[in-house]
Amino acid sequence: MEIILGGIALLSLLSAILKWLTVPGSITAFILGFIIFKAFDWQGLVILGVFFITSTLLTKWKRDLKRDEKALHSEEKKGRSAGQVLANGGAALIAAACHTAIPNPVWLIMYTAAFATATADTWASEIGVLSKKKPFHIKEWKTVDRGLSGAISSLGTFAAALGALLIGFSFYILFDTSFLVALCITISGFVGNLADTVFGAWFEQKFFCSMCKKETESRVHCGKKTTRIYGVSWVSNNLVNFTSTLIGGMIAGGLYIWINQ
Ligand SMILES: [Zn+2]
Repeated sequence: MEIILGGIALLSLLSAILKWLTVPGSITAFILGFIIFKAFDWQGLVILGVFFITSTLLTKWKRDLKRDEKALHSEEKKGRSAGQVLANGGAALIAAACHTAIPNPVWLIMYTAAFATATADTWASEIGVLSKKKPFHIKEWKTVDRGLSGAISSLGTFAAALGALLIGFSFYILFDTSFLVALCITISGFVGNLADTVFGAWFEQKFFCSMCKKETESRVHCGKKTTRIYGVSWVSNNLVNFTSTLIGGMIAGGLYIWINQ
């Protein structure tokens, strides 16, 4: 137990040093890891690790190519913030806390599906942004610049399916489970990612940069404040991510209860 706690502490510290996470982000990740370990043991931590390590590596991958397409927030340079950690891991954290209070196998399914959604979403945006073709915005019903929420490309959709599948497969390897349950997790992760796209398209705030004449999700672009053109003022990318991971988790929980009737 001490070894695993030491491992979580070391990885959190390393994440701060490597600027994968900010210092508050790294402290949040440590607490998240601790609660997950208490609820789902080391196997639960591996699920978190698969999400965190693949997502971070994909974010760094071909970063120079993505720079033009994605507005780099100052926080992106400093690493993922505590808010971003909770946006991706908050729903999973709730499932872990519920399992500690009222143990039931359904919490582990919801936990894993929340990370399947977060993984699908991150893979879709980090790989999808490299698509040669411009993505299609599902609300505006036209092609838009790469990197905007609510836009889909075939490459991004394929990446989302692959990300959800990796978590489903990890679950199958780590836990004594049926193929059907692992499939439920994969499907829920993919559907959760679709929910993320829909929320992103309809509710998330979009801004316009007067310098480069582009739509962006950043309040600051090209070193200047941007103007909000649409979206609901309190709907941020973090809230959209949190809601979609919650939905992915609930779909898997519902399917699990249904197939076990
Ligand atoms: Zn700009």
